[in-house]
Amino acid sequence: MLTQAIKGVKDILPADSAKWQSLEKTVRELFSDYGFSEIRTPIIEHTVLFARSIGATSDIVEKEMYAFKDQGGDEITLRPEGTAGVVRAYVEHKLFAPQPVTKVYYLGPMFRRERPQAGRLRQFHQIGVEALGVSEPGIDVDVLAALVELFNRLGVSGVELHINSLGCRDCRAAYKAALKDFLMQRMDSLCPDCQRRVETNPLRALDCKSEHCKTATNGAPMMSEYLDDDCRAHFESVKQGLDDLGIKYVINPRMVRGLDYYTRTTFEMIAIDKKGAQNAVAAGGRYDGLVEEIGGPPTPGIGFAIGVERLLIMLPEAGDGAPLPKVYIAAIGGQAARFGQKLADALRKSGISAERDYSPGGLKNQMKKADRSGAAYTVIIGEEEMTKGAALLRNMKTREQAEVELDKLVEEIKTRTRFL
Ligand code: ATP
Ligand code: MG
Repeated sequence: MLTQAIKGVKDILPADSAKWQSLEKTVRELFSDYGFSEIRTPIIEHTVLFARSIGATSDIVEKEMYAFKDQGGDEITLRPEGTAGVVRAYVEHKLFAPQPVTKVYYLGPMFRRERPQAGRLRQFHQIGVEALGVSEPGIDVDVLAALVELFNRLGVSGVELHINSLGCRDCRAAYKAALKDFLMQRMDSLCPDCQRRVETNPLRALDCKSEHCKTATNGAPMMSEYLDDDCRAHFESVKQGLDDLGIKYVINPRMVRGLDYYTRTTFEMIAIDKKGAQNAVAAGGRYDGLVEEIGGPPTPGIGFAIGVERLLIMLPEAGDGAPLPKVYIAAIGGQAARFGQKLADALRKSGISAERDYSPGGLKNQMKKADRSGAAYTVIIGEEEMTKGAALLRNMKTREQAEVELDKLVEEIKTRTRFL
């Protein structure tokens, strides 16, 4: 073949798309229940948007962005995440003016040049929400409740909600300095990435996957010890709200998230597989400085993003995704085939899915195909039936057959398939 799909970029084939559609339907209904409206932002943005907001020392900006210069010389990046684009749109269209509280959700593809492996792609999909304009902890609780409820509605178990507070710009500065001091004394035990980042982003050492860093950060100071009064009170209220709603969570003081813009409440939904391995399927948090950073008025925000591919792996098995036709039309002979085409058209216009054989063989052959199609009913029509003006309508489950006049077929099928 001429070429194949790009590494880490996947086709969603017909057999899988029903799963995606059903997930999307559940998600849309749920977000509507929680008061979020959809926003669709472009897949490409000016590179500076991501470089500035996500942070120069994040994995994304350091090594994962699909960034290029277009033919006009503009620096463009395929969006690696959803929040920056949403906030850009929020500021650009001044959504804060008519709607001081803006709650939006999105779903769509994201792009990161990572090493492809199970659950890690270069084009992957995220479902996310952003709630802008509320600093009170009640919105943190609502956002977390929506996330937890989504997993409930999907019937996904084996997940744990981990939460932490990263404090605000002020108290985090003091913490960063303390952590930096601690790490400086253990420089030799850190991985090369973290050694490099001690100056710029020491927090990253806490969630580094390298065993060296895990050992070296044992006993490191924790953000929780440095939270100022307001940040501490905020975190306490969030926990209280979760308790009130009966939402279970684990406080994970080492969770720092990789992105620069997070403040205060941060969280991850962790999937624990049968072998006990942990894997983040969703992540998010507050970003109280981001709107201002992008050029809007000081506005608090909080959101999350779920990795769709990682979520789909966890969904309880539903059958094969291809939609089943309700009716199969087995037409034998030229005249009957023409009638079959018209009948299929009439059924479809009535909202009944109908399939037929485009290169029809004999009756036996077509009945085999009808069986395989999974249709609930088959219309059997040959020259004899055409002359008689009545076709056979066969219930594929009970194998009962009835003769139905040609011009009554659509009505009869409508009645019979109403509850299928
Ligand atoms: P990781 O630590 O696994 O690299 P991350 O911190 O980079 O994750 P986020 O930026 O928080 O991930 O994105 C939120 C969610 O999006 C993740 O929890 C994950 O489910 C999903 N995700 C992130 N990167 C990928 C990817 N390359 N392929 C598939 N899903 C991804
Ligand atoms: Mg990553």
